[in-house]
Amino acid sequence: MSKGKAIRMDEKELEKAREYIKSLRNPNCKEDDVFFQAMEEVLLSIAPLYLSDPKYQANAIVQRLVVPDRIFKFKVEWLDRNNKIQVNTGYRVQFNNALGPYKGGLRFHPTVNEGVLKFLGFEQILKNALTGLPIGGAKGGSDFDPKGKTDFEVMSFCSAFMRELHKYIGPRIDVPAGDIGVGAREIGYLFGEYKKITSAYEGVLTGKPFFFGGSLMRPEATGYGVVYFTEKMLEIENKEPLKEKVCTVSGSGNVALHAIEKLYQLGALPVTCSDSKGTVYDPRGVDLELLKELKFVKRVSLQEYSKKHPEAKYIPVSDYPKGGHAAWHIPCYAAFPCATQNELTETDAKALVKNGCVSVTEGANMPSTPEAIHYFQKSGICFGPAKAANAGGVAVSALEMSQNAQMMRWSFEKVDAELKTIMEHICTNVAQTAEEYGVKGNYVDGANIAGFKRVADAMIAEGI
Ligand code: NDP
Repeated sequence: MSKGKAIRMDEKELEKAREYIKSLRNPNCKEDDVFFQAMEEVLLSIAPLYLSDPKYQANAIVQRLVVPDRIFKFKVEWLDRNNKIQVNTGYRVQFNNALGPYKGGLRFHPTVNEGVLKFLGFEQILKNALTGLPIGGAKGGSDFDPKGKTDFEVMSFCSAFMRELHKYIGPRIDVPAGDIGVGAREIGYLFGEYKKITSAYEGVLTGKPFFFGGSLMRPEATGYGVVYFTEKMLEIENKEPLKEKVCTVSGSGNVALHAIEKLYQLGALPVTCSDSKGTVYDPRGVDLELLKELKFVKRVSLQEYSKKHPEAKYIPVSDYPKGGHAAWHIPCYAAFPCATQNELTETDAKALVKNGCVSVTEGANMPSTPEAIHYFQKSGICFGPAKAANAGGVAVSALEMSQNAQMMRWSFEKVDAELKTIMEHICTNVAQTAEEYGVKGNYVDGANIAGFKRVADAMIAEGI
């Protein structure tokens, strides 16, 4: 195709594409809503590539890419603190391994179901492709809720979960990592059980604590990576860097916390964080040490933040703006949604733009609704989509796999430098791809096209 010229679908082709996507779904399965939301975004945005090169249609790449290779669904029976048997459901969606072993996190949260994991697994294929590393796409988890559970209960659940999961994973087959509700503690218990069952001490999980094979920098990687990506995006788009700029962040988990940490390191001022119950707005900057203590040591609600800082504002969910999230209504230069999917709506997008926000970068997976993304793009602000911007975590996971395979340990500085290079490379690649396919400045299309192309070309080369 001629460079710089977008091939857009005409109305007839768009209708055909939508009909095709509709034909894939069972209308009674509400669980799949979020999966189809992600799929539709990708399929419509890869049109400039798909329509310009007949080999993708000839090899039925779309039809093959949107169906997972396999889905495992299993029962997890475990003992609670009162020796009572509890039952949950576990899943592993192995989506695509054209580029390498299946790779993607495990999520433990009551909202987990097959549809959510299909959405996350599908996104993971393209995200992993964007890193340039040899990793395929997968996702897994359970509807188990670690909140309020004792350490013993979390261990009991993780052991039971692994008694099933171990049948499907391996260092060259499928290498899970953490996600919401699965941090170093859970990965430790999962790894311990895997080792007991198989007697193999191998890199079957990433995100392990450092003292038994984890990579330095893995906990920091996603949050740091989001900020590295943003700095590069601002540079490419000729905008001022983050230094001395007010930033808003949602979430208070692994991704949010490390995004906040990196923002401070760059001299920016992150003024918000949130959890599922409410948002903290601290105009002097979020107290990072307190945040770590509340969320990672005490594991309590952010409401506690005000006890130490009564001058900071705590906004409970019940007081959020109608149809929106409190964090996005506070004026900022750059916004970082880092909690969960669909947490930034069109109402929020309008408030951000109105208040002078210049850039939005997604730390969480699909935190912005399609309407919000559309509004950002229409308004011309820089928008870094999750599958490119939050790929730092999986990239360092892949570096952990390399270190495990070589029985080597890399220094914090080495991993951090690799991460920065990878994130800048992803950002540049996405920006250049967007320009090449006639959608300059559109990082959503750029990321979808660049990721899709790498996976699709491998699928074609590997045959059926
Ligand atoms: P954590 O479990 O560490 O933290 C999740 C945060 O989001 C918590 O503050 C939690 O609040 C909040 N949250 C969760 N569900 C909801 C909800 N339904 N409504 C409002 N707030 C909610 O997860 P991570 O930080 O690891 O992950 C955050 C996001 O980043 C997810 O979308 C994840 O898929 C994505 N991601 C994570 C990566 C990683 O390396 N960890 C890699 C790439 C993407 P509370 O404390 O009240 O539960």
